Amino acid sequence: MTLLQRTRALQDAAPVTSEEEAAGRVDGLVDVLNAHARLYYREDNPVISDAEYDALLEQLKHLEKKWPGLRRLDTPTQRVGSPPLDGFEKVQHPQPLLSLGNAFSADDLRAWYERCLRRLDRGEDVAPAMTAELKIDGLAVALTYEGGVLVRAATRGDGRVGEDITANVRTIQSVPLRLDASQASVPATVEVRGEVYFPKTGFEALNASLRARDLKPFANPRNAAAGSLRQLDSSITATRALAFFAYSTGPSSGPVSPTQAGALERLREWGFSINEHVRRFLAMDDVLEYCQAWTDRRDDLDYEIDGVVVKIDDLGIQEELGNVSNAPRWAIAFKFPARESTTRLTDIIVNVGRTGMITPEAVLEPVSIGGVTVTQATLHNADYVRDRDIRLGDTVVVKRAGDVIPAVVASVASVRDGSERVWEMPQRCPACDQPLERLEEEVDSYCVNGACPAQFIRLVEHFASRNAMDIEGFGSKLAVALVEAGLIRRLQDIYRLNREALLELEGFGEKKADNLLEGIEASKHRPLSRVLFGLGIRHVGRTTAETLVRTLPDMQAFMQSRVDDLVAIDGIGQVIAQSLVDWLALEPNQAMIRDMEEAGVTMTRLPEEAPTQGDAAPFAGLTFVVTGTLPTMGRKEAQEFIKQRGGKATASVSARTDYLVMGENPGSKADKAAELGVPIIDEETFRAMGG
Ligand code: NAD
Repeated sequence: MTLLQRTRALQDAAPVTSEEEAAGRVDGLVDVLNAHARLYYREDNPVISDAEYDALLEQLKHLEKKWPGLRRLDTPTQRVGSPPLDGFEKVQHPQPLLSLGNAFSADDLRAWYERCLRRLDRGEDVAPAMTAELKIDGLAVALTYEGGVLVRAATRGDGRVGEDITANVRTIQSVPLRLDASQASVPATVEVRGEVYFPKTGFEALNASLRARDLKPFANPRNAAAGSLRQLDSSITATRALAFFAYSTGPSSGPVSPTQAGALERLREWGFSINEHVRRFLAMDDVLEYCQAWTDRRDDLDYEIDGVVVKIDDLGIQEELGNVSNAPRWAIAFKFPARESTTRLTDIIVNVGRTGMITPEAVLEPVSIGGVTVTQATLHNADYVRDRDIRLGDTVVVKRAGDVIPAVVASVASVRDGSERVWEMPQRCPACDQPLERLEEEVDSYCVNGACPAQFIRLVEHFASRNAMDIEGFGSKLAVALVEAGLIRRLQDIYRLNREALLELEGFGEKKADNLLEGIEASKHRPLSRVLFGLGIRHVGRTTAETLVRTLPDMQAFMQSRVDDLVAIDGIGQVIAQSLVDWLALEPNQAMIRDMEEAGVTMTRLPEEAPTQGDAAPFAGLTFVVTGTLPTMGRKEAQEFIKQRGGKATASVSARTDYLVMGENPGSKADKAAELGVPIIDEETFRAMGG
């Protein structure tokens, strides 16, 4: 069996019921985990996700706890990292660099703190303060400074012996080669520990350049950091955009600080980058809130984090608590819920969107990610599949983050067995068999057959959706049912649906039919921009529709517009204008508009869609970004507020941003704004400005 097959078998195995069975399971787990650790630490080429590795390690820990006699000498539960690679000088660490225990839930974190308290045994009212630090997903290194000068840099290795990577680390801009000599607190000899990482933007650029040269891209920023740092030729490292955060001091010839927070302060004074989000807390509830906030906001950062490290702040107490074999008792890593997993891609199908856009979708062996079973994931477009060399039958990394649709992010080429096949984008539409088209400058292929049934179902779905006509109870299933039953052949047929016909459909009772008809009736009064958006005209998104309606008061005006008139509107380019004019020129589309108008659908803009001028447009020409939680306004509401006052709401802060509206728990946008000198205002000021 291959390593992956053995891994899958262990993942799927039923719980053991006897010691005999446990012995076999422990052997299997130790061997498989050690093989993965080797791929991860020594080859920077993991073939399963960290969450999968951690889950198997937890299984092993559990069995070893229950049957301590089964603990093997080479068990990964008692070890740190992996021995140093040949080719590098070895460095003996004066004090071991340990790993960290894991917490996967609030309960785990509370239990850890309780254990600390019990061990300290100081009575009820002693509650040591903690620091909470983002757990940067990079590579631990130990830097030795003598007389304030960097003399050695070493990887963690197996915790006791690491690799000498001094020449490589010297190329990293954020590692000071000499500490700020004006600081009296610098001891004659001091070890500084921290994380070398690859910023996300640099990582994307590196992978793009590797792909362009037909070289193998890195699976993630951590592997890129590890691979770049352990180059035998430091001139290669120098070309990589590595960065460094210091997070503690190691052995030193003189005192640095009695607390972790104080040590970080010293490190900052000496010239190191310290992560700005480090916080000190007195209560576990606040630590948990911090962990939750960063679980939600991790994507705001330009570096990967995989959790939060919580440490007892007082170094005296840290010493008292001491270590277990491979990790300190005084610290713990809260791990974020999994967002990635590996699985097999069994097939690629293509989906036809409402504009005819063709999207390849991966069909996956079901895999659970963060508690949700994923069976399909997007592959975006044909270039994406080709550039990432994703093949049929490949083991792939699937990512499911927040509300975003699951996506295949990489293939694991190293575990191919030769049976995988390169996929080709079909030449014809899977629904109507008409040839697909791809414009030269676009990455997407389209089915341009206006009568394509798949496209039509998507269009009906889109028309009825929340952001368009918002027809209550009209989802994708209903769209399929109505189109397949022949009740909707053209979009305007939605307004011809009647009770009798609906009652013929499976699952339709009188109440359901009446509710739907009521929803359809209500949709007739939606704003013109929603109608326009709902028609599904290529390139006419919601914001574009709103922009157009601000200038053109009714459908009649749209019909009479030429490309030149439309291009004259601020925010409307040639592509949108041409697409709209072409669409309106087609007779069936004109008939659709006529029919809808006759049915009573709004074809004239509502008063609130009219342009705002003078006092009514206090935000005209201004660009806003909203970040964090505002006291009373939701994010959408704030954006609406901006738009209604003639302003523009954008997602990211740039030099063109006029104001950042900031609420509680702002993300990195606040830092960016401060950096660029963009004024930051609160909700109250924002409302006052809006009049
Ligand atoms: P760890 O990465 O979970 O925790 C310890 C490390 O955290 C430290 O060495 C340090 O580098 C880092 N860290 C980041 N920020 C820190 C901060 N502010 N303070 C202190 N430390 C900080 O433990 P580990 O022992 O390095 O390795 C386990 C990790 O490696 C797990 O995430 C595991 O999933 C992964 N792994 C994955 C595979 C795989 O096949 N995918 C195999 C082996 C290990």
